[in-house]
Amino acid sequence: MWTPIHNRRIDVLVIGAGAAGVGAAIGAARNGATTLLVDVGPTVGGELLTGMTIDGAVNARGELVVSGTLSEILEECKAMDGLVGTFNDYRLIRYICYDPEVMKMAIIKVMARYGVKLLLYTFADDVVVSGNRVTGVMVRNKAGQTLIEADSVIDCSGDGDIAVMAGAEFEIGAKDGDLQPISIMFRMSGVEAEPLLRFVREHPEYVAVGESEVIRDGRTDKELVESLYEQGQPCVFFKGNGPFLSDAIDRKEMFPTALIMIQPTSGPRKEVCINSTRVWNVDPLKTDQLSATMSPLFDQVWTCVNFLKNRVPGFEQAYFAAVAPRLGIRETRRVLGEYVLTDEDVSTGRKFDDGIAKGCHHIDIHGRGRDQVRIPVADGGSYDIPFRCLVPKGLDNVLVAGRCLSATRAAQGTARTMGPCIAMGTAAGTAAALQRTENAENSFRDFPVARLREILKSQGSIIDGTH
Ligand SMILES: Cc1cc2nc3c(=O)[nH]c(=O)nc-3n(C[C@H](O)[C@H](O)[C@H](O)COP(=O)(O)OP(=O)(O)OC[C@H]3O[C@@H](n4cnc5c(N)ncnc54)[C@H](O)[C@@H]3O)c2cc1C
Repeated sequence: MWTPIHNRRIDVLVIGAGAAGVGAAIGAARNGATTLLVDVGPTVGGELLTGMTIDGAVNARGELVVSGTLSEILEECKAMDGLVGTFNDYRLIRYICYDPEVMKMAIIKVMARYGVKLLLYTFADDVVVSGNRVTGVMVRNKAGQTLIEADSVIDCSGDGDIAVMAGAEFEIGAKDGDLQPISIMFRMSGVEAEPLLRFVREHPEYVAVGESEVIRDGRTDKELVESLYEQGQPCVFFKGNGPFLSDAIDRKEMFPTALIMIQPTSGPRKEVCINSTRVWNVDPLKTDQLSATMSPLFDQVWTCVNFLKNRVPGFEQAYFAAVAPRLGIRETRRVLGEYVLTDEDVSTGRKFDDGIAKGCHHIDIHGRGRDQVRIPVADGGSYDIPFRCLVPKGLDNVLVAGRCLSATRAAQGTARTMGPCIAMGTAAGTAAALQRTENAENSFRDFPVARLREILKSQGSIIDGTH
């Protein structure tokens, strides 16, 4: 039986509370829409809570390309001493580091400021469609089934669940069916940065540096690791095809991986987040396959903890601190929209008249074992994400945002980072709020994007003026 929500009319319904959904809910509520954010999990923030850096928000030249909602959340982190800073990895990117424990609270604070309503522990499992419109989404939780009716629905499920249930076309993974591996992030505390950086300075061949010409800036590897040392932060990328990690993999002291990526999450706790684990050949839409990755991933976490403690200076007294609250999924469905962002658009840093968000991360496709494709954006710049990438073909009142955007696999391999996800979400939420007054009854296809761009700019989003 369907149980309608009583006395509740929602203007904008956002499904999925990861980076994109957080942006969408804040964008919609900030612009006056009653906004409900639904997630099957126990909290909001998704990968923002795992300790990974925010990528795709600062380009290799050091220009900020994502602001607005992101900056507002980071301000809250800063107020609670949870903003570590923006650093150069001296390899490809600059990224934003923060304390994920503080981030948990910062997001909720900003949502509360705008009156976003939350419905957690709730799975969206069906849609009600009338013509080209999704008039309601069926959700299920402890209270049973509920039909939530809304003027607009923003699909931030990562998997394009809503758009696909409503009939949208999609692509998934590579043409041969390959999908990026599942990983789980973890953190270690008590890490001494100076000995770690000294080790790296003595062994530039162990780490990835200077893969972006802009970041290399004519410097040798030796000069780059010297700069890394001077930066003083534990921002280190041991490469799976470099002698140190590769040898450890060969002698089975480490599992096959492209990287051990170390990034700071807290100065006082001397804490770092580590990205290294991976289980390949998993379809995340098959929940049994996804669940089965938990045990091997936790084994890998412990293998990596021991490897770091035994082999890497600075980790001798370090200890395991936390594991991410959820499995990390890099790609599933990409919903086919009015425009498909292409490999060339992102790698050349293309700008669009209907650009509503930006990204700047390299094309980043993790493969099997030690494989990883990393292609920087030309000239250390950024690319635009057109509004049309958020508009699923054939649907009038649905937008998608986040890693399920309309893009080729390689373009998704950069736009999936959290900077662009928050920016896309903000744009989608803002559009959905404006739709009520500026384009009511019409399709998002006819949306006045110039007006959206104006409003986004006035609210702090970065729309123009970057490389
Ligand atoms: C291991 C790993 C490392 C990464 N490293 C970085 C990094 O260092 N920096 C960076 O910027 N990015 C990184 N990324 C990429 C980035 O974290 C993700 O692509 C991004 O967070 C995706 O955000 P999203 O909101 O689109 O989707 P998701 O974070 O997947 O959020 C989707 C949300 O929707 C909910 N949901 C799904 N279906 C339903 C449903 N039917 N009903 C209700 N709720 C539903 C889920 O519970 C989830 O909370 C990494 C990703 C992984 C996996």
